[in-house]
Amino acid sequence: MGELALADILAARRAIAGVALRTPLIASPFLSRRLGHDFLLKLECTQPIGAFKLRGAVNAVSNLPSGVMGVTCCSTGNHGRGVAHAARARGLRAVVCMSSLVPKTKVDGIRALGAEVRICGSSQDDALAESQRLAREEGLVEISPFDDPLVIAGQGTIGLELMEDRPDLAAVLVPLSGGGLAAGITLAAKAIRPDIRVIGISMDRGAAMHASIRAGHPVEVGEVASLADSLGGGIGLANRLSFPLCRRLLDDVVLVSEEEIYRAMQTLYYEERMVAEGASVVGIAALTSGRLPAFAGPVATILTGRNVDMTVFTDIVSGRDVLLGDLTIKGHAHAA
Ligand SMILES: *Cc1c(COP(=O)(O)O)cnc(C)c1O
Repeated sequence: MGELALADILAARRAIAGVALRTPLIASPFLSRRLGHDFLLKLECTQPIGAFKLRGAVNAVSNLPSGVMGVTCCSTGNHGRGVAHAARARGLRAVVCMSSLVPKTKVDGIRALGAEVRICGSSQDDALAESQRLAREEGLVEISPFDDPLVIAGQGTIGLELMEDRPDLAAVLVPLSGGGLAAGITLAAKAIRPDIRVIGISMDRGAAMHASIRAGHPVEVGEVASLADSLGGGIGLANRLSFPLCRRLLDDVVLVSEEEIYRAMQTLYYEERMVAEGASVVGIAALTSGRLPAFAGPVATILTGRNVDMTVFTDIVSGRDVLLGDLTIKGHAHAA
């Protein structure tokens, strides 16, 4: 595949129809009051695996030639779940490699879909090395969580739906890790509305894409525990696609603190009665902590997943302290 284009995203939409949902886009009254325009939530947390990653995984697996032995990937949890789901539907073996930082609830979810799980080391890089070894030595096809044209095109179908539902959007706030989601959404949205602004949002500890865009090339960052565990890990020093696309197409990258993510999870729960993982609420955190520029119209963010560790979640909504490796996030009750 050459340069990724809108046609690839339209093809992905046909490939994933009937497996991944076309998700609702709903206005949050509370957050709309804060913004002064409609603030919209794209409910990817309602996908059958609880996260948007189903889109890219199904597109990649449905494009595999026949006769493939099986698939492998590294994952912070949700990509593995998507790949496991898509592989099972095609009767293929799936091996998912993850670091010890991945919450147990995500590991269990992947096993429940019939995939084999390998826990390798304490970083995404260790997990990536193992999935690459399996591809070399056991003949499995590796599916990158973000640096794969079919995965990016699959995630890009979210951009098509956003533009169809709200052609008047001024901006989209996209949770940003390896950048497959942001690259796909931005490609689709800017092909349709070149003037739309797309802003990537990451946590301020271990934001690999942000550091790489600043450096002008992919760089490694230390991987630390985060409430936004789905946003952890590097972008790969040999990144081919998601880095150049994010660098060229994103208007900005904004970082939020763990404390701000904690508050945003409370806000979403108390004001909208919704459960989401930390990675999902970074757009809300950026808004409510005043880190965004002013926008001239409605803004949407993607609630990317709901596969949250329930112990951590109940601690947060109860206002208790949360221990994250070397960091303690001081508990406090929700205040509107
Ligand atoms: C993977 C993931 C992201 C980030 O997507 P990238 O394509 O890696 O940037 C955000 N939120 C959730 C819940 C995820 O699983």
